[in-house]
This record gives sequence, structure tokens and C-alpha cells, in this order.
Amino acid sequence: MRKIAIYGKGGIGKSTTTQNTVAGLAEMGRKVMVVGCDPKADSTRLLLGGLAQKSVLDTLREEGEDVDLDDLRRTGFAGVVCVESGGPEPGVGCAGRGIITSINLLEQLGAYADSEKLDYAFYDVLGDVVCGGFAMPIREGKAKEIYIVVSGEMMAMYAANNICKGIVKFAEAGGVRLGGVICNSRNVDNEKEMIEAFAAKLGTQMIHFIPRDNMVQKAEIHRKTVIEYESAHPQADEYRTLARKIEVNEMHIIPKPMSTDELEKLLIDYGLAG
Ligand code: ADP
Ligand code: MG
Repeated sequence: MRKIAIYGKGGIGKSTTTQNTVAGLAEMGRKVMVVGCDPKADSTRLLLGGLAQKSVLDTLREEGEDVDLDDLRRTGFAGVVCVESGGPEPGVGCAGRGIITSINLLEQLGAYADSEKLDYAFYDVLGDVVCGGFAMPIREGKAKEIYIVVSGEMMAMYAANNICKGIVKFAEAGGVRLGGVICNSRNVDNEKEMIEAFAAKLGTQMIHFIPRDNMVQKAEIHRKTVIEYESAHPQADEYRTLARKIEVNEMHIIPKPMSTDELEKLLIDYGLAG
């Protein structure tokens, strides 16, 4: 089983991209589990056709330690297993710890056991804060392969570079590797070329360029992935392509983060300076 974590700045498109790509893998016959690691608990909405009613932490709070695997997971589109870690009550406790509690509980209850025959577990991890609790899935070796969602906007690239610093920190001890960056387009000038150059600087690849398309939002309003909502749409094929590229990806590296000066120079070179 491959354990993959998706990181990136808030709002960049992690949950959307993860679910659509997972839908692509599921169509290919792969058995996938998605674990939402965001207190918003919206990482599986498009696969389930609505928000999961209860997160793992909710269930633990309400039912105590004596929980069943089937209290924690739901089956979504094409047999995808969906889990939401959930979060602590707002302002109380560390959300990163909640994620680890959830993953440990899933392990204890056998969600990853051979009998389940999972090909992939995907972790959709909140935000750009890699030094705090949200580095947990990497730090604890729960995810081995990372993809970073980025766009040509400066703050998204800045966050991606910071995430790389977090990966470096845990790569030696935990064995985590970067599989590539996914460009989720914001229609920035020269975006594709810039993110390709950005990836090369980091020592990785831009594994795929996903166009910005309103069909994504249209499907989202109907609580579906594009693959489910409008299967023949070109945007659905973009996600299928990304799914295939991840399936055959053999590039797993320890990134070389850039200095802020280098990053800003890249932005200037590719025309953001005007
Ligand atoms: P994150 O999980 O990183 O916080 P989301 O996946 O929730 O971000 O995406 C934020 C918003 O961006 C969503 O409303 C989604 O519909 C939109 N979005 C994501 N990717 C695309 C895309 N390729 N084209 C158009 N809209 C997109
Ligand atoms: Mg999200």
C-alpha cells in the first residue's frame, strides 16, 4: 500500500484535487482510503455526496474508546473508503494530535490490515504549517510520499517551499519523500513554465498541470467530483491523467528548498514583477 499525503496552502485545491484524483484511481480499479486531516472535515464531501456526519474525534468524544471500524469510515464513490479525522473543539487542543489519534486508532482497528487490500491511503492535510501539529503524518512516518499542490501565486509557492523545509527535516529519520508538485492553475501568466522551473529548483518535477475550470465548482455544488458529475468532460481527463502519473511515478526525492531571495528571483524572472 502506498501512503500519500497531499500538502499545500489553504484554499489551493488540496481536497478537490485529492478527491478527483482518487476517483480516477478508483475508476482504474484501485482500492483507496482517503483520510481527511483538516478540522473542517470536508476532505471526503465530493466522494460521499455530502459532508461526513461524524469525524473520528467526534465519535471518540461521544462513544468513548469502544468504537468499531465501521463507526469511523464510510464508503463513497466507486468503493473509496472515507474517513475524517476532525478536530478538537475550536481553541482547545492541538489538531495535529487529533490527526495522529485518528490514524493510530484506524491502525489499531485494522483499517490498514492485509485483509482490507488497500492499494492507497491518501491523507489530505491542512495548511502550510509544517512545524506544528500538521507535520505529524510526516513526522510519525504515517505518510511516505508527499505531493504538494501549488499555483503560480507567490503565497502558494512560498508555502510549498516551506513544506519542503518540513519534508527535509523528517526525511532522514522517517523516510518521507517528495513525489512532485501538482500545479492547480490560477491562470497566472507563464504559470506552467514557472512551476516547472520551481519544481526543478526543488529537485523534483511538476507531475501535472491542472487547468482552472468552472466545471470543478459546478460539480462541487452538486457534491460530486468532476469524474462522477460529468465523466466525459476534459477536466475529468486531467484528473485521470494525474491519477495515472501518480500510479507510475518513480521519482521520490528529498527536496532542496529555496532561499526567499531565490524564490523571489524566480517570480521576477517569470514576469510577476510586471
Ligand atoms: P483546500 O483543500 O486546499 O483548502 P479546496 O480543494 O477546498 O482547497 O479548493 C478551494 C476551492 O477552489 C473550491 O471551491 C474548489 O471548487 C476550487 N477549485 C479547486 N481546484 C479548482 C480548479 N482546478 N478549477 C476551478 N476551481 C477549483
Ligand atoms: Mg481542504
